[in-house]
Amino acid sequence: MRSYILVLLASCFIHAADAQVTIKKTAALDFPCTAYAAPGMEAVDTTAGRGVANNYLTWENGDTILVKFMNNVGSKSIRNKIMQYAKEWEQYANLVFKFVPDNTPVTNIRVRLGSFYDKIGHNSKIGITCNDVPQTKQTLNLDTSDFIDISAYEAEYKKGGEFARFINGRVKDPNNYTNIDFLGDILQFPEADKKWNLKIVGRKARHEFGHSIGLLHEQSYPGGIKWNKDTVYKFYADRFEWTKEEVDNNVLEASDQFFTNGTQYDPRSVMHYDVKAWQTLDGYSLISSMEISEGDKKIIGALYPKNKKVSSLAVAKIQVMNFTKLDVKTDNVRKGLVITPSFDLKTTAVLGRVHFVALLTTEDGKKPIASTNTRYSWNNIAATYVPANMLPSSKISYNKSTKKNLELFFPFREMPALNGQKVKVMFIVYMYDTTNNKFDRVAASSMSSALMMPTGN
Ligand SMILES: [Zn+2]
Repeated sequence: MRSYILVLLASCFIHAADAQVTIKKTAALDFPCTAYAAPGMEAVDTTAGRGVANNYLTWENGDTILVKFMNNVGSKSIRNKIMQYAKEWEQYANLVFKFVPDNTPVTNIRVRLGSFYDKIGHNSKIGITCNDVPQTKQTLNLDTSDFIDISAYEAEYKKGGEFARFINGRVKDPNNYTNIDFLGDILQFPEADKKWNLKIVGRKARHEFGHSIGLLHEQSYPGGIKWNKDTVYKFYADRFEWTKEEVDNNVLEASDQFFTNGTQYDPRSVMHYDVKAWQTLDGYSLISSMEISEGDKKIIGALYPKNKKVSSLAVAKIQVMNFTKLDVKTDNVRKGLVITPSFDLKTTAVLGRVHFVALLTTEDGKKPIASTNTRYSWNNIAATYVPANMLPSSKISYNKSTKKNLELFFPFREMPALNGQKVKVMFIVYMYDTTNNKFDRVAASSMSSALMMPTGN
């Protein structure tokens, strides 16, 4: 008798004309940014041990950047909101995003408004690498399905009426109707404009346009987060089918690099991801910021100052102090030399550009080893290097304490044939000299002991 009543109740529920289907939350709908590993977007420089992006990728101070939307996609309201949030950066950076009509033949940034179904997600080329992309292709992707205000539609559904009837007409299996199904049906619902979650639109637009003017993921700040790497790999693999490499590129990898520009780690940055406690070794967690943070304003204002054209002004003075160690090791797994110098660096009131350079010399340290390699050379000497901008009046310690925050990597395959020769590594901090337009002012240098190179590199 009891089971009969249950069956009866259940069938009543299913067959009731205006029944409310329960929407099962089966999957996350928000896609994190994949600025460095997006399908259809070439990676930046992902050579192991080199920066995925760097301050060489910033636009010229004062630039007007031409931006357009592609393919006539997107309602006027969503376009206006994206423009509004992108242009917030103009308040702090000496740059202008000039939005031009879709049919403009040549632009710097091209925004593609995609949807959940194409799985391209949110991402952007970094800074001036936008200019390397063919005019027929986008430089910045936004997934507008992510912008749908699901809660507003849930409320609308509960109210009954036209929208509820539309949804009920599309539900095939009321016992298995997921939020993904619901989203798909919302996208199909004919209406003049969607209900947008402007918090999400704001966060994603500010974040991606932040990449487009050279900012990187803040969670990659060296030592900012103590990742529990295995759980991070598993999380992104389960949720978004990301490979280990994609997780490295988007979430973790730059943590061993150091384009920090002398800033402090900024957990409020709009360039930061969400971090769950179980993703970290110390239980640290964070809900990502929706807004441009004070730290974001500071860094972008330093990269694009409003009141001066940095490169035309005084020479930056960078002081290297307490140079305690130049550690050079051969790494047979990564197949290259790993160079980690330890020193403190102090800047004066002017923003300065430096290059950290590691040159190869002969065993006695007297002669540089020549190279024709265009990427791994410095004035035709075999070398690996990393550029960095230094914020005014800041002090940074590199590789002091247990925190590794500066590493140069020199792949064996990028060296001239050395076939078992012994070499030394000379580490030099070069400053930019405005008088001769070259990075040739030596702020510091240090020589390693001799190392044997592998044969047949
Ligand atoms: Zn991003």
